[in-house]
Amino acid sequence: MNVEQIYKDADALLEGHFLLASGNHSARYLQSAKVLEYPETAAKLADALADMIREAGVEVDTVCAPALGGVLAGYELARSLGVRSIFVEKKEGGMELRRGFEVKPGEKIIICEDIITTGGSAVKAAKAIEALGANIVAFASLANRGFCKRVGGENEAKPECKLPTDVPLFSLADFTFEMYAPEECPMCKEGSTAIKPGSKG
Ligand code: ZN
Repeated sequence: MNVEQIYKDADALLEGHFLLASGNHSARYLQSAKVLEYPETAAKLADALADMIREAGVEVDTVCAPALGGVLAGYELARSLGVRSIFVEKKEGGMELRRGFEVKPGEKIIICEDIITTGGSAVKAAKAIEALGANIVAFASLANRGFCKRVGGENEAKPECKLPTDVPLFSLADFTFEMYAPEECPMCKEGSTAIKPGSKG
């Protein structure tokens, strides 16, 4: 399965001149919600991710996603694994389970995102779940931005990665983009202006 081509076909892998949340500039941007626009594509990606998790022999009771970004990917992964799906939501400084969702002590949980960048939200979700006595058996994401090391991937974890090193990360592909500080950006030097893809109309 060519994951990068699937993202391109869904207009989820953009090419241009982008201002990233970090303040850096890049010629590529992953608009990862776009790849989940068509449920058939989302299911195909989640099935491949579920296969990786099964093949690794990881036992899972529940998939938990950090809202909002991870919810669709988490739901599809849970469907494919045949387990239940829950999500945590932002509160000041962290995340929490709401809406009557519960986890049991010792329950085996995968934290699932659409995309893992440095893993900040995934770690907050994991902390909220662990505080309730459940166990985080793995992290999962459809796409990995290349800061964290995924199972079977070639890239080593970068210092920015916030995920714990003793819990595996399952992800379909690494999307490692070259990033530039604005003053060193070759596209800025050519006179173009970086756009913020998240807020594009
Ligand atoms: Zn630039």
